[in-house]
Amino acid sequence: MKSHAKVVVIGGGVVGCSVLFHLARHGWTDVVLLERDELTSGSTWHAAGGMHTINGDPNVAKLQKYTISLYKEIEELSGQATGVHLTGGVLLAATEARLDWLRGVVSKGRYLGIDLEVISAKEAAELMPLIDPKQFVGAVRNKEDGHLDPSGVTHAYAKAARKLGAEVERFTKVEDIVRRPDGLWRVITNKGEVVAEHVVNAGGLWAREVGRMVGLELPVLAMEHMYLITEDMPEVADWNKKTGTEIIHAVDFDGELYLRQERGGMLMGTYEKANKVWSEFQTPWNFGHELLEPDIDRIAPSLEVGFRHFPAFQNTGIKQIINGPFTFAPDGNPLVGPVRGLPGFWVACGVMAGFSQGGGVGLALSNWMIEGDPGADIWAMDVARYGDWATMAYTNAKVRENYSRRFSIRFPNEELPAGRPLKTTPVYDTLSAKGARWGVAYGLEVPLWYAPEGVKDEFSWRRSSDFDHVAKEVAAVRGGVGLSEISSFAKYKVTGEGAAAWLDRMLACKLPKPGRMTLAPMLKEDGRLIGDFTLANVGAPDARDSEWFVAGSGVAEQYHMRWFEAHLPTDGSVRIEALGQKLTGLAIAGPKAREVLAKVTRADVSNAAFPFMAVARVDIGMAPCLVGRVSYTGDLGYEIWVAPEYQRTAYQALIEAGEEVGIGLFGSRALNALRLEKNYGSWAREYRPIYGPLEAGLDRFVAYDKEADFIGKEAALAERKQGGKLRLRAFIVGATDADVIGDEAIWHDGAVRGWVTSGGYAHHAKKSVAMGYVPKEIADEPDGFEIEILGKRHAARVQTAPLFDANFERMRA
Ligand SMILES: Cc1cc2nc3c(=O)[nH]c(=O)nc-3n(C[C@H](O)[C@H](O)[C@H](O)COP(=O)(O)OP(=O)(O)OC[C@H]3O[C@@H](n4cnc5c(N)ncnc54)[C@H](O)[C@@H]3O)c2cc1C
Repeated sequence: MKSHAKVVVIGGGVVGCSVLFHLARHGWTDVVLLERDELTSGSTWHAAGGMHTINGDPNVAKLQKYTISLYKEIEELSGQATGVHLTGGVLLAATEARLDWLRGVVSKGRYLGIDLEVISAKEAAELMPLIDPKQFVGAVRNKEDGHLDPSGVTHAYAKAARKLGAEVERFTKVEDIVRRPDGLWRVITNKGEVVAEHVVNAGGLWAREVGRMVGLELPVLAMEHMYLITEDMPEVADWNKKTGTEIIHAVDFDGELYLRQERGGMLMGTYEKANKVWSEFQTPWNFGHELLEPDIDRIAPSLEVGFRHFPAFQNTGIKQIINGPFTFAPDGNPLVGPVRGLPGFWVACGVMAGFSQGGGVGLALSNWMIEGDPGADIWAMDVARYGDWATMAYTNAKVRENYSRRFSIRFPNEELPAGRPLKTTPVYDTLSAKGARWGVAYGLEVPLWYAPEGVKDEFSWRRSSDFDHVAKEVAAVRGGVGLSEISSFAKYKVTGEGAAAWLDRMLACKLPKPGRMTLAPMLKEDGRLIGDFTLANVGAPDARDSEWFVAGSGVAEQYHMRWFEAHLPTDGSVRIEALGQKLTGLAIAGPKAREVLAKVTRADVSNAAFPFMAVARVDIGMAPCLVGRVSYTGDLGYEIWVAPEYQRTAYQALIEAGEEVGIGLFGSRALNALRLEKNYGSWAREYRPIYGPLEAGLDRFVAYDKEADFIGKEAALAERKQGGKLRLRAFIVGATDADVIGDEAIWHDGAVRGWVTSGGYAHHAKKSVAMGYVPKEIADEPDGFEIEILGKRHAARVQTAPLFDANFERMRA
C-alpha cells in the first residue's frame, strides 16, 4: 500500500468505486480506495439493481440520467459486464391525485430531456402484462428505467479506475483519521498509514462510524429493506416468448412497491409502513456478506396490495425473500460534498439509490475536488443542507417517515410531521394560539398561514382551504399593516479590521456606508451566484473595526458558512459568526407600518430620518433591536432583529401599537403572494449556482466597476458582455384553479423552452404568477408562452414591470 496519496476514498461499495473512477477519469490518478473487506461488502451486494431517472429534484434527476448513460462507458473501459437491461418501465397511478403528480413529473421531464409519456391504465397493461388495469387510473411510461448487476457495476467502476491509474486496496480497514498540523490527513488502517490531501467518506453502512473518526455526526441511518423473488411464472415465460422481450419495470406508488423480471420469475420490493431501523446507534464492524432475517408479516399489507394490483402473483410461490440494510439521510437524498470546518474531508454517503445516483455523485464530487465546483446544481444532495440540528434522534424520526412514504405523494401544501417541532422561537406558542399553521426551514418552525378555528390545510395540487385566508393576510398588508415572523433567515455578524475589505472581495455589490443597507449578490469564480444577501453596515462611522450584519437564506446557513470560512484570511483580521437563533426576527409591512413603528420607539422613523435601506439600532418598547427599512413584501416595511429573550416583548409592543390600525398576522404563504407581484426572486428557487447575475436579473446589484477584485468579477464581466444564455422572467398565467408550484415546463411557440422556478397566486393583483428561466432570445417576447400545470398548457404572458408598486412609490414613501 502506498504511504502517500492525493486522495484516499474510504469504502468499496458502488459509491466509493464511482468516486474513484471519476477522480481518475478527471486526471487525478494518485488516488487509492481502501475497502475493509471485498468490494461490495456493505449494502451494495444485495441491492435489487433497479435504476431510474426520476427524482423529486430536477437536478438530481439529471445526475440520475447521467448515471444510467455511464454504464456503457465503464463496461467498455473495464471489460467487466454490468448486466444492464434497459427495459423501460411504467409508473402507475391508482388515484387521480397520483396521476396529477405524474403529470407534473412528465412536465419536468420535458425540459430535462427525459422521455416520459402519460398513458392509460389499459396501455400500461399492454406494456406490462401482469397489471390489472382496473386497479389504476393511468400511468407514465419511462423508456430509461431498467436494472443491472450491482456487483458487476461496482467492479466495472473499480476496474476502469485501475486502468486509468487508480489503486484499490481490499481487506484494508480504516481505523482512525487524524488531521496533521500541516492540514494533511493521516488515514490509519490495519495495514499501516496513508497520508492524503483529501479523504472521501464513502463508508455506506459505516459512514457514521467513519464520520465519528473526525468528530462528525452525520445524519444517516440504515433501514431494513425487503424484496421477494418468485418462482418461475408461466405469465412471464409466455410474455418473453411472445414478444422476445423482458417484462418491463413497474413502480406502483399507491402500493409502495416496485417490480421487475428476475430470471423466469418476478422481483417485488416494498417500502412498508411498519418499517424497521437497522443498527440504530452503531453499525457492527463484523457485519458483511450476511442478510437479515426476513419478516413477511411486516410487508404483508404491501404484498396484499401488490397481489391485487398484479394478480398473477397470487398463483406463484415465493422462492426467496431478501432483507438487507441500506442508509438514508433525513430527506432521502444523498449527502455529498466538502464538510464545513474540515478542509479536505469529503462525504459521499446516504446514497439510497446507488445504481441511479452513484455515477452522478462521483461526477459531482470529482469536479468539486478538482475544479473547486461540482459543475452542476447539487443543492438537493449537498451535505451542507443539514446543520448540527439534524441530531441522531431527529434523523431517526425523519428517516423512518421518509421510508414509509418513499412512494407517497407529498402535496405542495403538505407539511410532514416527524421530528417536529425541533427548533422554535419565543413567539411560537403565541402565534400557535392565533392559529398559525407551521412549516419548517432548516429545522425551525416557520408560520405558513393563520387558520381560523376549525379550518385545516386540505392537501391538494390545486388551490386549497388556505386560499381565502391567505388572501385576507395579503389584504391586511396591502391595506394597512401586517406582522410576520422572519426568524428563519440566516443572520451573520462580520467584524474585525479586515471585515470591509473581505466583504468587498466576497460580495459583488458596492459596500454600503454606515447606517445603510444594500442587496448583495455573492458569486463563485465562474461568475455564477452562490448567494444573495442583505448587507447592512452597522458599525460606528469612526470605529477602527467595522461591524456588518448580513441576512440571507436560512436553509443555506451551513452552505454559506462553509464558503465564508474557506475564504477567511488566516491572520484573524476578520471574524464571522452565524447567529442562528441567537437573533430572532419580526417584520412589519404595509402603508401603516411606519405609524405602528413610530408608536413604539422614540427614534425618528420619518422618511427623511430613516429612509428606504436605512438601518439603525432602535428600541421597540423596552426591547433593543436592529431595524432595517426594507421589506420582501415590496411595501413600506421594516425588518426587526431582536435577541430571543426580547422577542416576545417586541412582538407585544408592535401588536398593541398596531391594534388601532387593525394590524394582522401574515405567514410565508402570504409573503410568497406579496413578493410575486414585485417579481422578487429568492435563494434556492430563482437564485441558484447555475445562473449568472445577469441571467437572474441581479446584475443591477453587481458593482462591475468597483475597485475591489471581487470573486467572480472577470466571469461576471464576460457574462455581461456576452449576455449569458437565460433570463429570469415573471409570467402571468391563465390558470384558474391550480397555480404553479415550481419545476413546470415553459413552452414557447409549441416547444418546451424553459422551466418554472416558483410561483403561486398573487392575491392583491389577483393574478396567477410564475417565475422561471427561458433562453434570452425569446425572453422579451410578450406572447407565445404557455405554462404547463397538471398536464394542461395555460397561456402565459411576460410581466416585466412588477404588478405592484412598479414605481417604488409605496416602498420608498
Ligand atoms: C435490499 C436492498 C435493495 C436495494 N435495491 C436497490 C435498487 O434496486 N437500486 C438502487 O439503486 N439501490 C438499491 N439499494 C440501495 C443500494 O444498495 C445502495 O444505494 C448502495 O449500495 C450504496 O452504496 P455505498 O457504496 O454508499 O455503500 P455500501 O455498499 O454500504 O459500501 C460501503 C463500503 O465501505 C466499506 N467501509 C466502510 N467503512 C470502512 C472502513 N472504515 N474502512 C474500509 N472500508 C470501509 C464497507 O465495507 C463497504 O464495502 C438496495 C439496498 C438494499 C439493502
